[in-house]
Amino acid sequence: MAKKKKAKAEPLPDSPLLCLSELVGNQRPRRLLAAALIEGRLFPVLLLHGPPGIGKFTTARAIAAAVNCASPDGADACRQCPSCRKVAAWTHPDIKVLESAADAQAAGRPDFFPDAQAASRSGGRVATRLLIGQVRRLLHETAFKPFEGGRRVFIIRHLESDPSMGCANALLKVLEEPPPGTSFILSSSRPDLLPDTIRSRCKTLAFLPPSREETAEFLAGRGIPP
Ligand SMILES: [Zn+2]
Repeated sequence: MAKKKKAKAEPLPDSPLLCLSELVGNQRPRRLLAAALIEGRLFPVLLLHGPPGIGKFTTARAIAAAVNCASPDGADACRQCPSCRKVAAWTHPDIKVLESAADAQAAGRPDFFPDAQAASRSGGRVATRLLIGQVRRLLHETAFKPFEGGRRVFIIRHLESDPSMGCANALLKVLEEPPPGTSFILSSSRPDLLPDTIRSRCKTLAFLPPSREETAEFLAGRGIPP
């Protein structure tokens, strides 16, 4: 009997690169981040936390783009320069995301730190949590200077997804003393599950759902009736 050909799932299109000023709600953390970017003193280790789907990751990407942009407008990336184009396409060598293979696949992003050994051990099953092999690959990259002379930004999603906390513990040292020119932005909806030793190393910013007024204003700005 002929083997049934499994239909390959098309990855979802990744979301576009947005600027800090385009994001809805969360004025307080956004203002703080914008001021830090404009003054050129981005926090080396940030923890953005709040409910899922609220813009933590979009914010992290906006920061990574702005800090490497050739002609930023205040804290906003231009989205036209070569660096911004690479961030938009996820091909910038200094801006990478550490997340589970399943999260990367669902978002239509590359898995920047694939753990090939774990994948072969599990028969190719896509991991739904962070793996220590991924963290080791990231740590290996921190030994090098930023490739493009700007700032290297690692966005780390759902570090708490590894229940053994082995991934968190492996990152402790580098989060305590990030290499020069390197920033880490952690994004989590369950920061309470992260070890204190990780949280204490981060500048923590809480993200809240936008108010009705903020949402209405955002929609009106795009000509959409509330
Ligand atoms: Zn730019």
